[in-house]
Amino acid sequence: MNERDSEIMIQVLSAHGYSECFAEEEADLIILNTCSIRAKAEQKMMSKLGHLRRLKKKNPRLRICVAGCVAQQEQARIIKKMPHVDLVLGTQEIYKIGKLLAENKKSLVAANLSENYLIPKFIPDLTKTPYPAYKKFVTIMQGCNNYCTYCVVPHTRGREISRNAADILEEIEVLAAAKVKEITLLGQNVNSYGRTNCISPHPAYDFADLLRDAAKIKGIERLRFTTSNPRDLTEKMMLCFRDIPKLCRQFHLPVQAGSNRILKKMNRKYTAEKYLELVKKLKKYRPDIVLTTDVIVGFPGESEDDFEQTMAILEQVRFNGSFSFKYSDRPGTVSAKMADKVDEQTKGRRLARFQKRQDEICLEENQRLLGTVMPVMVEGFDGITLKTRAETNHLVHIPSSRNITPGEIIPAKITFAGQHALKGELR
Ligand code: SAH
Ligand code: SF4
Repeated sequence: MNERDSEIMIQVLSAHGYSECFAEEEADLIILNTCSIRAKAEQKMMSKLGHLRRLKKKNPRLRICVAGCVAQQEQARIIKKMPHVDLVLGTQEIYKIGKLLAENKKSLVAANLSENYLIPKFIPDLTKTPYPAYKKFVTIMQGCNNYCTYCVVPHTRGREISRNAADILEEIEVLAAAKVKEITLLGQNVNSYGRTNCISPHPAYDFADLLRDAAKIKGIERLRFTTSNPRDLTEKMMLCFRDIPKLCRQFHLPVQAGSNRILKKMNRKYTAEKYLELVKKLKKYRPDIVLTTDVIVGFPGESEDDFEQTMAILEQVRFNGSFSFKYSDRPGTVSAKMADKVDEQTKGRRLARFQKRQDEICLEENQRLLGTVMPVMVEGFDGITLKTRAETNHLVHIPSSRNITPGEIIPAKITFAGQHALKGELR
């Protein structure tokens, strides 16, 4: 999401005469687009700001903007701690960055977070973005209404707001016309798309409808989306995996924990049994679907037995990959005030055990792909190897004597399977 927001800011700023440079020393403006999902990301930002203070001493023309979730969360406190910051830009203010900088004020905080915010119509200009043009992110909604007890997102990105469906589809059409082949639809909880959307084709228009409409756009070969909370996953959405060939057979479905007691404390509103039922259905609709997940270990009150249940769900689903994290207190969240915090050492031990077993499962699952032929999309070429990506999101390295245009889809036979990547040969 931040990557897409950065692209938007680059495009907005280009209309104000800015162009991108690649060395900090040459910049007149540096934007730190921050994340505050866990405390570690925030600590990284503070140390980076310390470095930029030294840079600004050497180049007094330099202006520094802090954007993203930490900006939204900390607001004026950032300037208090780091007076060399010129602009604190909240998550709903990115489209205004050019105008705000033009005001040329010292120490400006723009961090309004409104429930009535509408995501502006914004048509991408591919000449203004530094990222590869064969695959793009398209934001479909902002914020979240789920209030999982550990999560800072509803506080930093605000209440859930769906973007106008016509704007989304127009953006995808523009991208397709510019030869983009793969689209990832972005939202904190894409499954509830449309619930808060006032300008959709009809009141019941939802995420499944949007996927079906996006799939109709000529030129787009692959569709992906992220992220979805299992509690809002509908039968209608799951059927998309059966009915839409362009929808990649990969689903990131964060489970967070395997213990119903912990899931309840997290306010996830599903049980491990319900999650397993969803997995069964997804496999019925798309037998070769590959599942990945997010897991938090050491949520307040998590006992050894609770953690064993997280290990058990890993064994039952055999995820093809996961992002796993030690629980981290976030400001303003319900869980930050919970008693029974799990100590760092226990969290570290549980995380290492989970990750070790996940790695083993990844390797075992990947090895089942040996000898199979699958379509892969070319992402790059370094002179000897093509970097490609399978529909399942696996990286596949293919030795090649010739370059192939990024975005092209070619068949590859899998000849080697590692934990995190595959090797293949051209067919
Ligand atoms: N909207 C997505 C999650 C987005 S945040 C969903 O509902 O699934 C990405 C991941 O960060 C989460 O899935 C969770 O595993 C992790 N995360 C969020 N808050 C956290 C916290 N306080 N401590 C540790 N991990 C956290
Ligand atoms: Fe955070 Fe995702 Fe829960 Fe929303 S659904 S509160 S973004 S973890």
